[in-house]
Amino acid sequence: MPELPEVETVRRGLEQKLNNYIINKVKVCRDSTVAFPTNKEEFIQGLRNSLLYKWDRRGKYLIAQLKKIENENIQYPQKKSSTNNGFLIVHLRMTGYFKFIKNSTPPCKHTRIRFFDKNNNELRYIDVRSFGQMWWIKQELSPNRIIKGLGSLGPEPFSKEFNTKYLKKVISKRTKSIKAILLDQTIVAGIGNIYADESLYSAGISPFREAHTIKKNELIKLKESIKTVLKKSIGSGGTTFSDFRDLEGENGNFGLQTNVYRRTGKECRKCGNLIERQKITGRSTHWCPKCQK
Ligand SMILES: [Zn+2]
Repeated sequence: MPELPEVETVRRGLEQKLNNYIINKVKVCRDSTVAFPTNKEEFIQGLRNSLLYKWDRRGKYLIAQLKKIENENIQYPQKKSSTNNGFLIVHLRMTGYFKFIKNSTPPCKHTRIRFFDKNNNELRYIDVRSFGQMWWIKQELSPNRIIKGLGSLGPEPFSKEFNTKYLKKVISKRTKSIKAILLDQTIVAGIGNIYADESLYSAGISPFREAHTIKKNELIKLKESIKTVLKKSIGSGGTTFSDFRDLEGENGNFGLQTNVYRRTGKECRKCGNLIERQKITGRSTHWCPKCQK
């Protein structure tokens, strides 16, 4: 599943590619991809003549701010000629990705939603396993209320709120493993299996440790490790994820090597001991028993 660095990479790509992109037409190829409004016609009509004004990210959610363009002939919409039209929100889940196609071509069978501008340039959403979702939240509604997963997100790893004091507070009475804590989106937003394993390795903390047993100096290290690991991956385009695709539909170049994730049975880069794997709350967990205590 794409995690924070991959979703951030997608966000940057969309922002770069979709310069002044105004949705002229929407085609829904699979109804279940539209999570809200429940009536897909409302989704289609609501998004028409919307400028994809600004792309944000919160956790693993992509959030496009929309402006309704009243006069389609205006080439460079100013604030005067447009009004806010709510948000287009996307969660890629397991296998969702966007592809930008200049002069639209016939879609592949995994195409779920297609957006077109008036010059027939297509922003295509493809999703093999179809767990991804999209919401159009009109201006009068609150995204955080309608999308429960979004409203309940914990702080962003790069925010001020994500500090040692906060971490200490949330883990103090928890007997769950620290790995499960890191995967909990209500505690910290955007971390999934890859970056939880990599951060714990980098901090030298065993993924099996009960969260409340982790000491303050270890928490400081963990917090820093999370930031460093995520930052490094964003810098390399979030390419540790094997199914990840950029807007040209290309698979990433795997520029970033992992230390433990999917390295079961290989030598630890620090101590030479073999990397092990075991499930924690249903998720494959990779770690070095010698380096992580
Ligand atoms: Zn080791």
